[in-house]
Amino acid sequence: MNVSFKNTEVIVFDLDGTIVNLTADWMSLRDILVEMYREQYKEDCNFERVSTCLNEIVQKEDEETLQDFISVIREYELENIKDTQLIEETIYFISNKELFGVNSEVKFAILSLNTRSTIIRALELANIYDKIDLIVGREDVRRWKPAPDGLLKIQEYFKMKKEEMIYFGDLEKDVLTGKNAGIEAYLIDELIELVKKKHTY
Ligand SMILES: [Mg+2]
Repeated sequence: MNVSFKNTEVIVFDLDGTIVNLTADWMSLRDILVEMYREQYKEDCNFERVSTCLNEIVQKEDEETLQDFISVIREYELENIKDTQLIEETIYFISNKELFGVNSEVKFAILSLNTRSTIIRALELANIYDKIDLIVGREDVRRWKPAPDGLLKIQEYFKMKKEEMIYFGDLEKDVLTGKNAGIEAYLIDELIELVKKKHTY
């Protein structure tokens, strides 16, 4: 792995597939959202990606409906949270950052498409909620990954340079989000390899 934490001040993580594996049945959530959208606007939206249709609602400047959708997503995520699986390597890294050459002053943040309540519950399940300094969830931006808004919001909060930030996620979309924000981004697999090399469980 080429990543060095020497100049890093903020490390940002995605949630699902990166710190935990949420086990919600996203297909049935999608069916619910498709129906809600149809009822509200008398037209269809392709919920292949939820963000695409939420973008449509943002375009309509219909904040009330957007909040309704986010509430349904939140409820759905929380109903399924008990089956969440932990990704031990990432959690170990966050809990023991100094072992990996990460300065003790370095901040951790989450940028995820999941809702804030889900993120908090998942971090509590992983026993690392107290180690996370900032959470940017579904309801905190109006343009979602791979748009750069979430990363830029985190940058603004900590008032750091882009070169001082790193983002880890499990999908190419996450790497693209970093690219769009001008912030270095890596697949979490690379960090998992690093942790595996250093420590055995
Ligand atoms: Mg993910």
